[in-house]
Amino acid sequence: MAAITPLQCAKCGACTVVCPVFQAGGREPLSARGRLHLLERLDPAQASAAYAEILSQCLLCGACRDVCSRGLDPPGRFIAARERLEKTAGRHALLRAITHKALSNPALLATIASLGRPLLDRLPPDSGLRLRLGLPQEEPAAFPAQSETEQETSALPALAFFPGCYATHLHREIGEATERIAARLTGKPTLRPKKQNCCGLAAESGGDTATAKRVARQNILAFAGNTLPILTSCASCYSQLRRYPELFADDPEWLTQAQAFADRLLEFSTFVAQAMEAEPDFRFAGSPVPRTVVYHDPCHLRFPSEIIAPPRKILTAIPGLHLAELANGPQCCGQGGLFHLAQPELAATIRSRLLTQLAQAAPDLITTTCSGCLIHIRQGLGHDPAQPEVLHLAILLAELLQTKP
Ligand code: SF4
Ligand code: SF4
Repeated sequence: MAAITPLQCAKCGACTVVCPVFQAGGREPLSARGRLHLLERLDPAQASAAYAEILSQCLLCGACRDVCSRGLDPPGRFIAARERLEKTAGRHALLRAITHKALSNPALLATIASLGRPLLDRLPPDSGLRLRLGLPQEEPAAFPAQSETEQETSALPALAFFPGCYATHLHREIGEATERIAARLTGKPTLRPKKQNCCGLAAESGGDTATAKRVARQNILAFAGNTLPILTSCASCYSQLRRYPELFADDPEWLTQAQAFADRLLEFSTFVAQAMEAEPDFRFAGSPVPRTVVYHDPCHLRFPSEIIAPPRKILTAIPGLHLAELANGPQCCGQGGLFHLAQPELAATIRSRLLTQLAQAAPDLITTTCSGCLIHIRQGLGHDPAQPEVLHLAILLAELLQTKP
């Protein structure tokens, strides 16, 4: 019998206990163990459409990596395998096309957004497209301009800001709310470098590593003109931006710059919690009515970064909010970047498990820091006014922002 190398799966099954896809489907090929078994025996470059389909049935959530008894990185291996898939195999051919043509082209994205937004705004409240895009039922109220105090204290920027595609093109109010909170907590404006692009998560998870690297280089260069911390309020973007050193692991020319870029990243809830600690007199206004709130942990913050405590510290410090937890602890929502497009049935099954847990917690409000989770949970709850509101944490906090006396 061949000796087991450290790089081989031990078939221990620890990953099956935490894998949302395996729990939803209950079949071995849906687990990290099953997919690794396949990879050990068949080169993805020779794969059939069925093989491609199995590889696409992974959220890349990282839960298996977190518990793997061998210290393996199954999602990293699946990303590498997706890259090797034949261009026409499985649904990833379509996903590649989407990511290559739209998400890597900021000018095209901006054009689509500017042309489409007025039309989208006229969609009826119960429109399926409105639901699919996670658009609110009504145009959100614009946040008031910065107070005079904030303008007076504005000087050189304190933070650079990476809003991501969702907060740049579809829900601009999330980016504005983030900048407003950052301005209040630092007393200075934020800097949005103009030439930044999509983080590349969708491209890389669709197997298009070349596009992921291209947009990563653009982002690194866009922020190279300053040394400010780079704030981002999208968990998925933050997770992908942190991966840049891995993306350029075999490229010494870019690796140093990618590492310097990653070292500057500042996740939104971490920033707010740290700023609140540093300024004990600062308070968010209390909720006008008592509300029970559940914070939904994005997998992209739970597993690679373990940013779990900061949003809870913020929410528990706000009078009138009662923070409730799910009975079984944090749950994946099933969105997974492009997973919900490639595997809609599995994504819906995973989401319905979360919604059952949420219903038991009976919150008035659900908040999260991931644009993907936000869209997916909103879609699952529909437009029923009896369902809890789902808000990005930045929007909730901006609503509770007190101006300086
Ligand atoms: S990354 Fe997530 S969905 Fe994929 S195999 Fe691991 S636990 Fe399952
Ligand atoms: S936890 Fe790691 S070693 Fe164990 S079955 Fe899963 S992938 Fe294999």
